Amino acid sequence: MSMATTDAAASASLAGSDPDLFRLIQSESHRQDTTLEMIASENHVSPAVLAAVGSCLTNKYCEGYPGKRYYSGCGIYDQVETLAIERAKQMFGCRFANVQPHSGANANMAAFIALLEPGDTFLSVVLCDGGHLTHGSLANISGKWFKPVHYPLIYDRSHPRFGRIDYDAVARLAREHKPKLIICGYSAYPRTIDFPRFRQIADEVGATLVADIAHIAGLVVGGAHPSPFPHAQIVTTTTHKTLRGPRGGLILTNDEQLAAKIDKAVFPGCQGGPLMHVIAGKAAAFGEALKPEFRAYVHQIVANAKALAEALTQRGYDLASGGTDNHLMLVDLRRTHPNLSGKDGAAWLEEAGIIANKNTVNNDTRSPIVTSGIRLGTPALTTRGLKQPQMVQVAGLIDQVLRSEGDKTKLQNVRKEVESLCRQFPLHG
Ligand SMILES: *Cc1c(COP(=O)(O)O)cnc(C)c1O
Repeated sequence: MSMATTDAAASASLAGSDPDLFRLIQSESHRQDTTLEMIASENHVSPAVLAAVGSCLTNKYCEGYPGKRYYSGCGIYDQVETLAIERAKQMFGCRFANVQPHSGANANMAAFIALLEPGDTFLSVVLCDGGHLTHGSLANISGKWFKPVHYPLIYDRSHPRFGRIDYDAVARLAREHKPKLIICGYSAYPRTIDFPRFRQIADEVGATLVADIAHIAGLVVGGAHPSPFPHAQIVTTTTHKTLRGPRGGLILTNDEQLAAKIDKAVFPGCQGGPLMHVIAGKAAAFGEALKPEFRAYVHQIVANAKALAEALTQRGYDLASGGTDNHLMLVDLRRTHPNLSGKDGAAWLEEAGIIANKNTVNNDTRSPIVTSGIRLGTPALTTRGLKQPQMVQVAGLIDQVLRSEGDKTKLQNVRKEVESLCRQFPLHG
């Protein structure tokens, strides 16, 4: 399948002109073929998306927007970008879309520029509770230039809503701090987001609600998670996670005035020329997401996540919030494996061919570099065609790895089983 990950003709030419680079890309293709990708934010794009991103559209400067460019020769690009915009609007059933953000981080930065002045207050979840760097981390411009106030999850294990957003605390903090903006949407939150509740709180204090659906965008499009529309005034997302497109960002709204502010905030606010080859890749992915097969795909992602969560729970593992409603789960290692960090757990899993990431858990006593948790997601495995029975098998493999004490022979044995599973479910097979 290595040829399916790059355009065959382009590969042949790269093989001749730059064998060193060609070999590296081939090695990566082999790695993707032969390992189980369980990083919740990753996926495998289609050959159509790869072809668009690898096309000659990378050659052109198109500063501006369709019909309003600064350079000549943009006619076809206007059509490509318009196609992506129209498909984005159709996917989410909204009125305006900006497809130019280079990434999810840029989409969020543009939302901040559109809505806030430096020093303004906003509400969000802190990184170590499952938020994102761009939601007010002090290492990020969102935390340096603006004033984040973080709302909590319910940390009490005996509470029936343990591990979920504490909506009463969101309301209390909103009344207390009068934020201009409230962000909902997270990087490591396994539960459904109550968008109407957030909007109610935002309206009460005159804040704008931004839903950052970077992780769940595909689930929203395919009907496996409630839509942030009409509740959120601005929706930001990535295009490369559950949406299964090229790496990039996207901003959506129903509000014409906000749409104009967003367009200015993206260009010239924080970006120069758009990545037109990536916008073409977005158009391709959005076209795929509008097909009925995509609905089936995202519902299978969630069914797989539930099956994996159930199988891990049966093996005694603790999951943050006790399970999942979406595509991801957080394994809390503290009770079952008190001496094992998320860092070592993820390293052992990688040796066994299972790619996942360490993650902080509620009130983690280990540092964000070490952590006591592992985040697992099912979008990429579902793209390969794995279903519930394989999730039970994968839970068994993960369990073997985490109990292995890092023993090389045990890890190699799991690796063999992983490779056989990968052969059974080839990428683009
Ligand atoms: C992944 C993610 C982003 C950022 O996406 P990049 O493309 O990596 O910049 C923003 N917000 C959330 C909630 C995310 O999970």
